Amino acid sequence: LIVMDRVNKHFGSLHVLRDVDLTVDRGEVVVVIGPSGSGKSTLCRSINRLEPIDSGEIRFDGQPLPAEGRALARLRSEVGMVFQSFNLFAHRTVLENVMLGPVKVRKEKPAAVRERALALLERVGIANQADKYPAQLSGGQQQRAAIARALAMQPKAMLFDEPTSALDPEMVGEVLDVMTSLAADGMTMIVVTHEMGFARHAANRVVFMADGQLVEQAPPAEFFTNPRSDRAKDFLSKIL
Ligand code: ATP
Ligand code: MG
Repeated sequence: LIVMDRVNKHFGSLHVLRDVDLTVDRGEVVVVIGPSGSGKSTLCRSINRLEPIDSGEIRFDGQPLPAEGRALARLRSEVGMVFQSFNLFAHRTVLENVMLGPVKVRKEKPAAVRERALALLERVGIANQADKYPAQLSGGQQQRAAIARALAMQPKAMLFDEPTSALDPEMVGEVLDVMTSLAADGMTMIVVTHEMGFARHAANRVVFMADGQLVEQAPPAEFFTNPRSDRAKDFLSKIL
């Protein structure tokens, strides 16, 4: 579904993605880990073209990423993204936040979108918060609302960039549970996270990045018990 082929990206003189080759199949859950500044966020952002790349190619669902216009808007709705900060619209209710994309961007009928949005809020466990404003929710509830909002666009893939890093520890689990259930339902996911428990039980593959390169990738059981590169060994020794 997602293919990155010798992708390179610079910020000025900083080479942040170096010949990145990554293929993510339909239904696969790939967890990306690596030190701060290794390019994990840039990799995610390049996939829905929040960051244009300098060379190489990225294909989504068989097509090169569109550069602009409607095709780009469609790509962004097909690749849902959830960030560390929840990015909800503060002056809209939770339900309105979830409905906004399908109604405004896709011009779908509000009545049908409302049904879907309520079902999604049910699914992420916050149906009873539908009419509240984001500031009235806990961090974990806000992040679950952000996930529901991305899902309302019926994406083919979801990108999560440290979705639990801004949360109080007691709220991490409820967000990871939603992500685990999405993964079990067959959603294609790329997840940047420091939650190694999630990586172990929900990922099909762990990708270790350092200095803009994909240093190694392996199924979690293999990666965590037998990392091959010194950089991965060093990284794991610091976080586990
Ligand atoms: P972290 O774990 O801290 O989130 P990361 O692996 O996500 O790190 P990126 O955010 O992808 O790393 O950043 C990779 C490098 O690119 C870093 O050195 C960062 O400072 C730099 N960088 C990121 N975005 C920009 C930007 N818009 N302009 C200039 N430099 C940037
Ligand atoms: Mg990052």
